[in-house]
Amino acid sequence: MTDFKFTYATMFNPPETLHERYDQALAAQKASLGGEYAMFIDGRDVFAEEKFEDRTPINTEIVLAVMQKGNAEHAHQALTAARKAFPVWSRTPWQERVALLRRAAGLIEERLFRLSAALSLEVGKNRMEAIGDVQETADLIYYACDQMEANDGYIKPLGKDPLPHHDSTNISILRPYGVWLVISPFNFPFALTGGPAGAALVTGNTVVIKPATDTAWIVRLLVDCFRDAGLPDGVVNFVTGPGRTLGQALVDSPDVDGVTFTGSFDVGMKLFRDFAARNYIRPVILELGGKNPAIVSRHANLEEAATGIVRSAFGLQGQKCSAASRILIEEPVYDELTARLKELTEKLVIGDPTERNTFLGPVINQAAYDDFKHYAEELSQAGRFLTGGQTLNGEFAKGYFCQPTLAVDVPYSHPLWQHEMFLPIATIGKVRDLNEAMQIANSVNYGLTAGFYGTEEEAQWFFENIEAGVTYANRPQGATTGAWPGFQPFGGWKGSGSSGKNAGGLYYLPLYMHEQIRTLVRKK
Ligand code: NAD
Repeated sequence: MTDFKFTYATMFNPPETLHERYDQALAAQKASLGGEYAMFIDGRDVFAEEKFEDRTPINTEIVLAVMQKGNAEHAHQALTAARKAFPVWSRTPWQERVALLRRAAGLIEERLFRLSAALSLEVGKNRMEAIGDVQETADLIYYACDQMEANDGYIKPLGKDPLPHHDSTNISILRPYGVWLVISPFNFPFALTGGPAGAALVTGNTVVIKPATDTAWIVRLLVDCFRDAGLPDGVVNFVTGPGRTLGQALVDSPDVDGVTFTGSFDVGMKLFRDFAARNYIRPVILELGGKNPAIVSRHANLEEAATGIVRSAFGLQGQKCSAASRILIEEPVYDELTARLKELTEKLVIGDPTERNTFLGPVINQAAYDDFKHYAEELSQAGRFLTGGQTLNGEFAKGYFCQPTLAVDVPYSHPLWQHEMFLPIATIGKVRDLNEAMQIANSVNYGLTAGFYGTEEEAQWFFENIEAGVTYANRPQGATTGAWPGFQPFGGWKGSGSSGKNAGGLYYLPLYMHEQIRTLVRKK
């Protein structure tokens, strides 16, 4: 694999060794399922009285791991440990923190295939998506370390005041806030825990991690990488349990100095409001939902458009914040493109996501599966299906399998043109011209990613006018998905994010630090 660099754009033609190593790791992982995993607080494994079983959405009879149902007391313990570790960690020379985090990223890469197999089993990701989630995490951490170095630890000399008979030196220094909370979603549990945690840690914060309940196991395996890299006790803490109880206790605690929340708009906005009800403002980095448009011009290469749209609508069963969920096609090419989209969608292989040829695995849980049925019912009444619309039975009955679904003839006034369904469902609409497409594209609360297919001149117009944080033109690898750190830093506008700066990008690390100016005056 020496000259192959894995990214979401290159993953469609991997070398054979990648498959072989994944298959070996999967067999080993399957042979050791069902064990109990602890929380991790102050360098120790911590067990709760209550437990929960973590089952695979591929076949809900299989228990992957037994996890701890932590409560408000565990939240308190984790925050206390993080507070205690902060003075030493924040004063550790940044070069030493960089070295430790590079070691953690190295361990993630060493364990790439075992971790990817676990991810496939827990989230239902196909093998390439799973490898991507793990490799991206290592790359996010490396990128944060590189940025720390490129900016000399964010310690910058400023100009000297023009004071007669005095020497006045000024320095700007970015310093960590303190205890940083990382709350992550189920769909990219590795990257969206490890990326924010890596950024918080390398800049000198200590962290408390709370994963989504559906993905508690894989995040514990990530925490093991931080532990094994030698991060001191209390610097990384990990608690598991319900968002509404344990998660809310963390959010409500005055011991949290900053938070990165990645998840849905509603939960994120509630967190933002809860955080504001304090004596002063603390940083809140929110990475929220999307309702991402793909616009296709009459001049587009339709084959590239169809390939990119199908990959982005149905990769990870449509459960990506960046999924292409609204397809807007200019009238002259509408019939030809919709026919091709139908054809490509019906060729997608649905099944056990650990198998080599599978593209779509199951959706995450019973609630998502039920949502699929409700949305399908609503869409069938408002319009019609070009393809899909059903859940799968027979050999699939033990898991949460849904057909990739394209809905057409749904009026633009229907709420499902606005609402993030987060399932393998996309709506397709016909537009008279690109201006109408742009108006519809921008008429949602979200502004995460967007895709375009057309001429280069049209693409420039698209970049100028679209309201989104990550934009792509003429990309068959994915119309709206497939961002990679260093190439496509990831973040959203409007209701899709709070900071206006993208993760894995040039301006991300400063979000984890506050500035201190140091003026020292000496008499000459
Ligand atoms: P979710 O909002 O249901 O849960 C996210 C996290 O919040 C979980 O860990 C959950 O346990 C926790 N939580 C729930 N209630 C809480 C509370 N009251 N206090 C504290 N924590 C609480 O989201 P999800 O279903 O896990 O993930 C899907 C959502 O995430 C989608 O909306 C998707 O678009 C979004 N997402 C955004 C990005 C991005 O980068 N912008 C990336 C991935 C996913």
